[in-house]
Amino acid sequence: MSESKPEENNAGSSLNSKTNIEPDSKPDSKPDSNSKSDNIINGKKADKSVILAVPRGFCAGVDRAILTVSRLLENSAAEPKKTNLPPVYVRRQIVHNRHVVADLSERGAVFVNELDEIPDEAAEAKIPVVFSAHGVSPAVVEEAQRRGLNVIDATCPLVGKVHREVLRYAKEGYSIVYIGHKGHDEAIGVIGEAPENVTLVQNREDVKKLVFPDGTPLVCLSQTTLSAEETEDTVAALKKKFPSIEQPSNSDICYATHNRQAAIKQIAEKSSCVIVVGSKNSSNSVRLVEVAQQELANRGKAFLVDDAEELKDEWFENAETVGVSSGASVPDVLVDEVVLALKKRGFKNVKTLTAVEENMHFVLPKAVR
Ligand code: SF4
Repeated sequence: MSESKPEENNAGSSLNSKTNIEPDSKPDSKPDSNSKSDNIINGKKADKSVILAVPRGFCAGVDRAILTVSRLLENSAAEPKKTNLPPVYVRRQIVHNRHVVADLSERGAVFVNELDEIPDEAAEAKIPVVFSAHGVSPAVVEEAQRRGLNVIDATCPLVGKVHREVLRYAKEGYSIVYIGHKGHDEAIGVIGEAPENVTLVQNREDVKKLVFPDGTPLVCLSQTTLSAEETEDTVAALKKKFPSIEQPSNSDICYATHNRQAAIKQIAEKSSCVIVVGSKNSSNSVRLVEVAQQELANRGKAFLVDDAEELKDEWFENAETVGVSSGASVPDVLVDEVVLALKKRGFKNVKTLTAVEENMHFVLPKAVR
């Protein structure tokens, strides 16, 4: 993971966020010349509006992970087939999006839940085994080494950073309070670095139950895809109960999470319904819905859909403006289909709202550069 340096780091750029609303540049989504977001123009009912959030969709870690599997598939297709084994195995969903997984499966990648589903012949044939963007615990790394698997690690470098923080603080004798979601792949991997030193909390209720012997050095780390506001609430509860608890100088919540939450907050301010495209097991997508709903309050509702087929007419009955965004593991083609479906429902005036300019890239794992 140390090989995966960000090429350009705009982590925390939400602090420099700006708001810039423009008509969407895609030809298909240009507003009519007399369209305004006002409801009535010259006595005629104006088109209803869609506001697309920028940034949305793929983050640098997801892009890197998908590109890794894609390159391995391309490389394998270019070579003569020597075995009946698949060209690449991927442990767990490479990113939490069922469309991405279905696409890579169709191209030949085989997804497994655990390494024991991979036959020994695959180790002998050096078939690549990719670890997902969410990272794995050291126990999984050890198992792969023991079996001689040809591992390509696509763990996001920003998740890798939290792994290293856990190791460092555990070595220095700290007890670590990790704010995250129980059972999420990222949380399992991070906690696995030092299970005896890490306690998982999900919210301020969990903080109430924490007990540490007097004088225990404490530090608080978190999952990269949490809602910034919700995490602040839990951190405040921790600081109240344990005033000496430390935090690393940079938040563990990643730049992409910050930026997508900043953007959705701004589109929700101007909308009466918000659609987030993303899968239900995608932590950052679910957080986007929560942030949008908090901003909408009782003015409207925020919904999570995997694709346009899940949209329901009744959601838009009283809406004049619908905000649209997508989680960090969502290809933009799925957002395009949602926008098209909204246009068919009368939301023809499509604009984008840029909250933050994003330009982050991660170097690919060595094996696929
Ligand atoms: S959401 Fe953040 S931590 Fe997760 S893969 Fe993307 S950049 Fe990495």
